[in-house]
Amino acid sequence: MRAAPFALLRNTRKTERGASQFLSRLVVRAAPFALLSILLLALGGLPFLLWGVFFRVTVGLHATWMVNSLTHFWGSRRFATRDASRNNWFVAMLSFGEGWHNNHHANPTSARHGLAWYEIDMHWWEIRLLQIIGLATSVRRASLPFKLQPPVTASTNAEV
Ligand SMILES: [Zn+2]
Repeated sequence: MRAAPFALLRNTRKTERGASQFLSRLVVRAAPFALLSILLLALGGLPFLLWGVFFRVTVGLHATWMVNSLTHFWGSRRFATRDASRNNWFVAMLSFGEGWHNNHHANPTSARHGLAWYEIDMHWWEIRLLQIIGLATSVRRASLPFKLQPPVTASTNAEV
């Protein structure tokens, strides 16, 4: 009987801490959007706010979701994977390279999805840049003809 009030107190503190963490995460995540919204509203009114925040976020979300929906229905298949994944250039352009989905399914640990020279993969360019300046390490990448390269580490970089 004596432990129950303390347990209740502990649970209350846990709940309060959880709520506090939730609120702080919400503020941290929402603050940039709120500041951008206020700035755009001040600069150009409602049209700036609609195009600069709501339209941009909507396009970004749909492009992301297209990677796991459209690229399993439409596009070409370079690799005979056991799923229905396909390379779709339209989705790749909207998603900065994620639309080379068949390449990704065939080489899931590869940071590079666009394998051919004409498969534009802007995310790979970003990762490559981070690797060059030393902020990304152990980056795996596939290339054509298909061969998954071992991860490049600082020690293997020095040998090359
Ligand atoms: Zn998929």
